[in-house]
Amino acid sequence: MISRLQKISKLQFVRLFYWLFLAYMVVALLWWYVALVKQNDQIANIKFGTFQSNDPAISKKIAEIQDFQLRKSKQYIGEGLTILFLFLLGAIYVYRSLLKQIRYSNQQQNFMMAVTHELKTPIAITQLNLETLIKRNLDIDQQKKMLEVSLLETQRLDNLCNNILLASQLDMGEYKANTQEVDLSVIVENTVKNFKNRFADRNFQAYVEPAIHLKGESVLLQLLLNNLIDNALKYSNVGSLVTIHLHQENQRIQMQVMDEGVGVPMSDKDKIFEKFYRVGAEYTRTTKGTGLGLYLCNRIAKFHHGVLEVSANDPKGSIFTFTYFS
Ligand code: ADP
Repeated sequence: MISRLQKISKLQFVRLFYWLFLAYMVVALLWWYVALVKQNDQIANIKFGTFQSNDPAISKKIAEIQDFQLRKSKQYIGEGLTILFLFLLGAIYVYRSLLKQIRYSNQQQNFMMAVTHELKTPIAITQLNLETLIKRNLDIDQQKKMLEVSLLETQRLDNLCNNILLASQLDMGEYKANTQEVDLSVIVENTVKNFKNRFADRNFQAYVEPAIHLKGESVLLQLLLNNLIDNALKYSNVGSLVTIHLHQENQRIQMQVMDEGVGVPMSDKDKIFEKFYRVGAEYTRTTKGTGLGLYLCNRIAKFHHGVLEVSANDPKGSIFTFTYFS
């Protein structure tokens, strides 16, 4: 709680300091302009004072000085506005980079906490189940149930490890690609079958056109679909439907995962693909996660020269669409 408050106040402090600094700079610039105009007037007045009233060329000289004065004023305004424009441009750029940096470092800290939690929970559950199985004489149904739960938890752990590993490999440019002709229909069918087995209490519907082939990496495509279905389950209720579509129209292949859950707010549609980004405030969020899944999905889509997008489902929920041009 204290560190959350510290993070918020750090952000607010930076904002406050920055706007105060900016306001000071703008006021200083205005003050500078006023001082220059005054100085210009004083110089003109001094020049006026040197004229003889009986000088026949006096009106010409006055006009020249007034013209000079006007040109100087225009010069100050022009230069002042250019400096102000460049200054504001720079200030906005620095401000945005600063906020991005602070947000990124906060997200990274949250990620570390989330990963620790996500790693510890499945280990603790599996350990407890195994200890119970050893110590107690449970009937066969109870044993089966405990083993199923443990298996689910280890699969969750496996998913998380794969995500973390792949993210770091892709980020460091160390990922060894093994691209070949893959049957996406088979990948989708197998993945859906696997999810149906693991989540017998959830409703899945799959429309998979057979024999859709593309050039790609089957492990990555499977991870992409796994993450999308995982999210569809995580961000929707048990009774709702998760639909998986795979179809091809001419050169365009589309793989979609639709759910009837909470949906993605408009303002977060692009941000959810950023590394470690999670919708909502850290202290009010109840779902588990690391903010890595969609970042990876997006990287995998790009790796295949495809696009991953999110849109709203009707009447509620979201549709994640991976589009690939063969
Ligand atoms: P997380 O581990 O938080 O699920 P992701 O990168 O998979 O990380 O997703 C980023 C954020 O996008 C999530 O925190 C969630 O708020 C939002 N999100 C992802 N999938 C869905 C979905 N199917 N429905 C609603 N929100 C989603």
